[in-house]
Parts: sequence; structure tokens; C-alpha cells
Amino acid sequence: MRILVTGAGGFIGHHLVKRLRADGHWVRGGDVKYPEFEPSDAHEMLIGDLRSFESCARAVAGVDEVYHLAADMGGIGYISANHAQLTRNNLLIDANMLEAAHLAGVTRYLYTSSACVYPSFLQTSEEAGNLKERDAIPADPEKGYGWEKLMAEQLATYYHEDHGLDVRLVRFHNIYGPLGTYDGGKEKAPAAIMRKVSVAKAEDEIEVWGDGEQTRSFCYIDDCVEGLARIMRSDYNAPVNLGTDELVTVNELVDAVAAAAGKRIHKRHDLTKPQGVRGRNSDNSLLRELLDWEPRTTLREGLAKTYPWIWRQMDRRGAAQQPAPVETGVSKGVA
Ligand code: NAD
Repeated sequence: MRILVTGAGGFIGHHLVKRLRADGHWVRGGDVKYPEFEPSDAHEMLIGDLRSFESCARAVAGVDEVYHLAADMGGIGYISANHAQLTRNNLLIDANMLEAAHLAGVTRYLYTSSACVYPSFLQTSEEAGNLKERDAIPADPEKGYGWEKLMAEQLATYYHEDHGLDVRLVRFHNIYGPLGTYDGGKEKAPAAIMRKVSVAKAEDEIEVWGDGEQTRSFCYIDDCVEGLARIMRSDYNAPVNLGTDELVTVNELVDAVAAAAGKRIHKRHDLTKPQGVRGRNSDNSLLRELLDWEPRTTLREGLAKTYPWIWRQMDRRGAAQQPAPVETGVSKGVA
């Protein structure tokens, strides 16, 4: 098949391109940039701004299927400081991509949404229940980023209903792994914590945003890519969660990273920093029912594969502190 992956210069898109190519497909990547840490496996990288319809039309020309991942996004610090810019950018990208895919006669179109679409009133305590797909409406999503994702899901559904576009809608819950952004302001909590731990001495203190008792689940990149491929091959057109339901507090996440690093890390909580909703977990009932599958990598296993990669990036800058983690054989990338 001929497949377009937008956001192929980013974290998940880059891994997905590798997977689709290994499966024997012809793959075009679309992005404003090339991948940061190693060359793309895409047969063709189209560098262009997908906020413009013309770029979207060029990107979808001649492809059978689209995995649409391109978005202006980042961790909680970034998405809560850039509401206008991020919402406008993503509205333009998502609306133009759908119209271009429809006009080009694309057969399947997968849109990557987010757990940020779920209403804040269901996520006010650490023990908040697991979020089921139908919980998204009535709506009260994350300001900016979450509202846009929810609107884009709706728009994709209208293209399905009005024009017969065969859509897939996937709600990610905190994806992490090697080759992801770990600094610069767009990094998410797991990568930020691994970076801080990598440069900390054995008994140092690191800064943790909030009191650390907020809860989340974290999904390893290989499971995410496997889930995307499986959801695309399903025949389900409505939103589905893709994440783990292994709920941990951010403090437990820090402890797990410290264990992977072989360090005794102390925490300094900064209550002035944004921490997002209080508690969020994925309900995987629908995922299991649809695919007879769900992510299997535990947080401990995923961190053991990711921490050595981040440590190595910081070591190349002369910033990482011993002990050096044991290599796990994942892609080394180039800095
Ligand atoms: P990422 O930032 O690494 O990748 C997104 C890519 O989109 C980047 O390479 C960026 O350059 C590209 N992009 C941004 N604006 C563009 C434009 N105008 N034209 C073309 N390309 C543009 O993010 P990611 O973690 O790989 O996320 C992929 C998708 O998954 C996004 O849609 C994101 O919202 C969604 N998502 C990710 C997570 C997560 O935990 N990583 C969670 C929920 C949803």
C-alpha cells in the first residue's frame, strides 16, 4: 500500500514510518522538519507546512491511506502557555488534511487525538475512574489543545457521515520512548523527569511539577505503533483509547525512573508549575473488545528501554552523571 504519515519528523510519526516500511508498505512522510535524532525510513519526505491546503493536497496525492499525526503540541507547560497559537495551527492542519484526503479519494484516514479531550470534571481526584470513550461528551476538555482535538474528531466524523471517508479516531494516553523530545520546552513529563535524573548525582534532588500526587498512565512507543497499525486494520470509525491502564502518581514515576537509573533521587515539589488534571487513566475495555489486544509493556520495562537513550543524549553534551545505565539494544539514533 502507499501510505502517508504526517508528523513523520516527530516522535510517534518517525517510529510509525519505520514500522510501516518494515511491513512492506511504500511510505511518504510529511512534516515541517526531518526527524531530529536519526534519518527517516520514509521512501519520500515531503517538507511543507500542513496549515496550508496546497501542502496537504501535495501530501495526500496518490496515497491509499493516511495516518495523520502532525500537530503543534508539547507537554503541559507548552500546551497551557500557547492556547491561541496551538489551537489555530491545529484547526488549520486538521481541517485542510481532511478536505485534501476526501478530495484525493483516500481510502482510510486515521486521526490521532488525545486523552486531553476528556472533561476536567471527571478528573478532579487522584482516584478518578478510568475514562471510557463515551465520557468525552458532554464536553469540558483541556483548554485549547483538548478543545481542538475534540472538534477535529467531530469534523472527521462528519466527513465519514457526509462523504463516506473511512476514518479511525485514536485517543493517545501519554506516549513515551526513545527518540522523543526530552528538552527545549515541548517535552512531556516522563522525558523531562528522565533528563533531570540523568544529570543528577546519586543522591541529588530534582524539581517535580505540582505535589506529585497527580495520577496518569504511560504507554511505551512500541505498543503505541502496534496499536495504531491494528486500529487502522479494524473497521471501527468512532474514537478509541490507546494507552495502558497502569495508573501511577508522578511521584511513583520519579521513583521508577530513579530505580532504572540506579540513583536515590529526592524530590523538590514546585506547586507553582502547571500539572494538568488531578487524575487520568485509560479504560481499555473497548480496545480489548475491538482488537483482542492492549499495550503490554509495563512502565518499568518501558523506562528501562528509554532512560539509557536519554542518558546517552545528555552524556554527549557532557552533562550526564554516573552510573551509566545498561544498554538495552534499542535504536541508538544520532544526536
Ligand atoms: P511531535 O511534536 O513529536 O510530532 C508532531 C509533528 O508535527 C512534529 O514533527 C511537528 O514538526 C509536526 N508539525 C507541527 N506543525 C506542523 C505543520 N504546520 N505542518 C507540518 N508538520 C507540522 O508529537 P508526537 O508526540 O509524535 O505526537 C503525534 C500526534 O499524537 C500529535 O497529533 C499529538 O497531538 C498526538 N498525541 C501525542 C501524545 C503523546 O503522548 N506523545 C498524547 C496525545 C496525543
